Amino acid sequence: MFSRELASHGRAFVNYQALSQVEVKDMTIDGFPAKLFFNPARVRSVMADVSPEALQKRACFLCPDGVEEHQLTHNWDSPTGHTYYIRVNPFPIFSPHFTVSSSVHERQELLPHLESMLHLAKELPEMTIFYNGPMCGASAPDHMHFQAVPRHSLPIEDHFDTNYANAILVQETDLQTHLAAVKKVLAMGTIPEEASQTGSLTAGASHAEEYEPRWNIVSWYEPAQQVDGVPPIGRPYGLLDASLLDIGKFNTIVFFRKESRPQCFFAPEQERILFSPATVEMAGIGIVANRESFDRLTPARLRDIIREVADEIV
Ligand SMILES: [Zn+2]
Repeated sequence: MFSRELASHGRAFVNYQALSQVEVKDMTIDGFPAKLFFNPARVRSVMADVSPEALQKRACFLCPDGVEEHQLTHNWDSPTGHTYYIRVNPFPIFSPHFTVSSSVHERQELLPHLESMLHLAKELPEMTIFYNGPMCGASAPDHMHFQAVPRHSLPIEDHFDTNYANAILVQETDLQTHLAAVKKVLAMGTIPEEASQTGSLTAGASHAEEYEPRWNIVSWYEPAQQVDGVPPIGRPYGLLDASLLDIGKFNTIVFFRKESRPQCFFAPEQERILFSPATVEMAGIGIVANRESFDRLTPARLRDIIREVADEIV
């Protein structure tokens, strides 16, 4: 689907071509290998106005009526019963970069779709799936969607560090056990009394007027490793050191958020940094769409901004 769409030379083709020109700055932050990307094509996402009034005025670009002429759609039926549209993201950060949106126009909300997110991670082990909360970087908070990017795109996948953005990692081999463990972590973002009163796991977020706590989520599935070219499952039981057996496992990282955007986003022109943290930023890749912000964003500033928007939940 990816190559077919690029071959049609639509907007995605132009923006994927532009990806090869993206300037990258490597930044080591307290030993964590972050990166800063200067990607002018992302200006619409960085500056996205997601106020209810603005959303009212625009056509939804994730609904079938709103997709562009060249965009192809692959339907994915989740075992949970939901159907999702998988499409090439016309404003990519990575290559390839897909959006996975609900076939129904419904608000961005994690819990009804978390299990599907894990099924998708298992079905696409070469991809990392992530979710931006409605106040944490989603540019379509009115239409439920995930994104899928190649595994190892995000530094935190290979350099997990709880100090960076107060990340919490959950690992389990069984999907349902993992789902329950992730939900337990997510419940830490709620005020327990309110959550139990309403019977809703997402009630009582620190921002009372919002329907779910502010969070960014990353999930991926590591399939069982082959040992000497033979899958562990095919080996005679008892002949192998158990430590050599690696069974597949689910990984989910939860970032709780305090702020939607940092103060520097609203600063006067001469000191403004147009930086709008979403999952990708919390996971170690900063994206800016203008030259001034790229030059102003030093490793120390990036660290301070991530600390400013992250919530210390534990
Ligand atoms: Zn929609």
